[in-house]
Amino acid sequence: MIFEHWLLPDEMLPTFRDVTPEKLREAGIRFIFSDIDNTLATYDDPEPPADVTAWIRETEEAGIRVIFVSNNAAARVGRFAAPLGCPAYAKARKPLLGVLQRAMKDAGAAPGESLLLGDQLLTDCAAGRRAGMRVFIVPPIKDKTTLFFRAKRLIERPYVRKYMKNRSDPGR
Ligand SMILES: [Mg+2]
Repeated sequence: MIFEHWLLPDEMLPTFRDVTPEKLREAGIRFIFSDIDNTLATYDDPEPPADVTAWIRETEEAGIRVIFVSNNAAARVGRFAAPLGCPAYAKARKPLLGVLQRAMKDAGAAPGESLLLGDQLLTDCAAGRRAGMRVFIVPPIKDKTTLFFRAKRLIERPYVRKYMKNRSDPGR
């Protein structure tokens, strides 16, 4: 399938806390364009939890900037980002590229030094891939159990399996 690589991340990690300054430095990443919902916090957390605040501080102290790019509404995104002081873009409509590329331009970020961090293959991974940046995916912190979200997971499943297979068979 021609669009298949859009849904294959570079890495799948247990949580955002596994995205360490060492790992980022090794990969030459200077900018993280991060999703919010189910990547850093649940839909029920209006403000950043303590572990997110600590992770942002640690990342920024290493000279890496974090920029939020969320498909959620401006009120949610603004309230979450304000205490952290990170630039934030709402209604990004990932996997569309318009807002993500505006965020990159505003930050002065080239694709080769950028990372998309998210929890969804169909929106986050596809947007990052299309923008030419590295992609790390974490499992959703707390999934919505609506039919819509369950259907998305079903579509994603074969890609997750393919990623796992490639990982365990590096000779391919
Ligand atoms: Mg998300």
